[in-house]
Amino acid sequence: MDTYTYIIDNNLYINLTNKCSNRCVFCVRNKDTYGGYPLWLKSEPTFEDVVKSAGDVSSYNEIVFCGYGEPTYRVDTLVELGKHYRTLGKLVRINTNGHGNEINGKNIAPLLAGAVDIVSISLNQSDSEKYDAICKPIYKVGAFEMLLNFATACKNQSEFTTQLSIVDVPDVDITACQKVADSIGVALKVREYIDID
Ligand code: SF4
Repeated sequence: MDTYTYIIDNNLYINLTNKCSNRCVFCVRNKDTYGGYPLWLKSEPTFEDVVKSAGDVSSYNEIVFCGYGEPTYRVDTLVELGKHYRTLGKLVRINTNGHGNEINGKNIAPLLAGAVDIVSISLNQSDSEKYDAICKPIYKVGAFEMLLNFATACKNQSEFTTQLSIVDVPDVDITACQKVADSIGVALKVREYIDID
């Protein structure tokens, strides 16, 4: 049975797809399960599949689009679900690698208005060379710039909050990442490294 939704720290996570435009060396997809959940999908869920899997969401702190893949590959379903859960009064976040505009061949930032409260874009590193080395994007050039352009497009949407995120590990220069975030006027969230089996 596919895992369309899973719960960690009282947040409901939605696993829309296993497709991704990166092959990050640290990706949780390198494990068979995450938080005890098998997140490899045999088929991608519909709106109805997710709603049925999630059940009563009233007690969760947040609804988060984040799975074994990049959620913007399913932007239409993501928007539909996000609007549904926001109508129920839930806080909705998307964790994304920021390649959504290239993936969809258009600027998807306006579509997210009304569907999400927070767009959290994984910056991962402070420059293109370091990013390519650890994220191994399918795009041979410009993947880092793509995510910065997406962050700028999202920042221009006033209906939701945009942030870049990094994980506090020794290889990441937080000061340099902060400068990158400052250069485009977006907040930087520094996350603690948590290893979950
Ligand atoms: S962007 Fe996210 S889902 Fe994709 S490979 Fe990197 S960590 Fe994994």
